[in-house]
Amino acid sequence: MTAERAADDLLAGVPTGVLIDGVWRDARGGARIGVEDPSTGKVLLEVADGDAADMVAALDAAAAAQASWAATSPRDRAEILRRAFDEVVRRADDFAWLISTEMGKPLAESAGEVRYAAEFLRWFSEEAPRISGSWRRSPEGTSRLLTMKAPVGPTLMITPWNFPLAMATRKVAPAVAAGCTMVLKPSELTPLTSLLFADLLQQAGLPAGVLNVVTTSRAGEATLPLLGDPRLRKLTFTGSTAVGRILLSAASEQVLRTSMELGGNAPLLVFDDADLDVAVQGALDAKMRNVGQACTAANRLLVHESVAEEFSRRLSAAMSGLVVGPGVEPGVQVGPLIDARAVDKAERLVDAARAEGGEVLTGGHAVPGDGHFFEPTVLRAPATAAFVQEEIFGPIAPIGTFAETDEAVALANSSSYGLASYVFSRDLSRVLDVVERLEFGMVGVNQGVISNAAAPFGGIKQSGLGREGGAEGIEEYLETKYVGLAP
Ligand code: ADP
Repeated sequence: MTAERAADDLLAGVPTGVLIDGVWRDARGGARIGVEDPSTGKVLLEVADGDAADMVAALDAAAAAQASWAATSPRDRAEILRRAFDEVVRRADDFAWLISTEMGKPLAESAGEVRYAAEFLRWFSEEAPRISGSWRRSPEGTSRLLTMKAPVGPTLMITPWNFPLAMATRKVAPAVAAGCTMVLKPSELTPLTSLLFADLLQQAGLPAGVLNVVTTSRAGEATLPLLGDPRLRKLTFTGSTAVGRILLSAASEQVLRTSMELGGNAPLLVFDDADLDVAVQGALDAKMRNVGQACTAANRLLVHESVAEEFSRRLSAAMSGLVVGPGVEPGVQVGPLIDARAVDKAERLVDAARAEGGEVLTGGHAVPGDGHFFEPTVLRAPATAAFVQEEIFGPIAPIGTFAETDEAVALANSSSYGLASYVFSRDLSRVLDVVERLEFGMVGVNQGVISNAAAPFGGIKQSGLGREGGAEGIEEYLETKYVGLAP
């Protein structure tokens, strides 16, 4: 079979409707959304453009399925997740190709996302049977204090385009483990991966109505009625802080449980005692995964003034050597940005850096031709420059300098975001001191990639609320019920 034929067959197997109560059907209004390949701008497939009525139908199904789903045994829910894990791993190449095609990242990175995404299925299959409670005597000895866990209930899940599989499994897997039913709204830019995954979960034995999926081009309008519906009990969102604020405000009407994974502005600190090879590789990983389109991406490289020159030279050499092109082509290391708007933003940020005294060391331009490509870019700019307060979400690495540890920590913390941060140093006591003082939900030490299904992912300040993954991940989908028992 030719590669083209295999690709056509794979696309032909992706469901393109809305999934409601176990059945794929067209959107009620019959409208469709074209899903583009960002490397070419070509439409790959059209999917259903659902509206508020489709969303409400999805919640009807989720609400109707909640009680019987909550009553299933933890082992049964675990087995569904485990079968889904095996199936995602078996179809890893299909998922990787689909991610690269609709989102743009190179195949090797997509394969990494598939492994990471699948691990949430395995991890939460192991967590489901371990949901537990507690038993203790009251301090006065007059009562027994029992706690038990119950699923939160029907949950609306809104996911972004940058990790189309991992952002879905990171929410769906703990909800399945806990016994919550779901309405999933994937990003309209990259819905295909989530649609294929939802289909796979049905085949793995997920009962009808537990997971409902609605794609829409009018996210705000379509999801608003759900946020005001008393049957919905939780909202989990991954995306921009701007949209997160709108959703938090709407979620206040029903006082919903919320998990919010919002923007980041990660500092990456390189101290004078750092192993520069390790630091350059770490910076490359932290900056260039997903072409910088990750909320954990290094946004501000803060380097001790004594090593800044050498670090900048090595990082520029590494960045300028990266192969840019369509993600599905062999050997490509940097794919396109998601759309034309993202390229405009990268250009605007480079201009802003220059206006603030920045110097472009390599890159700095959009790549002419089809697709939304931007050159891997390294800049020297003042560490206090205003443009670095913004989340870059592109392949631009601004390097600023510091002289003292206190200054480095103050610069790092001078952001309204608090998601990921990175520290490069060989001095253990310095590392521990800095880690304790960083106001971030996550710190990578001498490494640029920290995401792991077994670790709690999440931020503080305006980066969000709650944690995904780790032992904490399932708690986001559970309520604690306390029972006071007379002795
Ligand atoms: P990004 O900048 O990463 O695209 P967004 O916050 O715009 O992040 O989008 C993340 C997800 O939120 C997507 O699924 C998008 O469709 C959805 N979304 C955007 N605006 C709204 C809104 N007003 N209400 C609900 N969902 C929204």
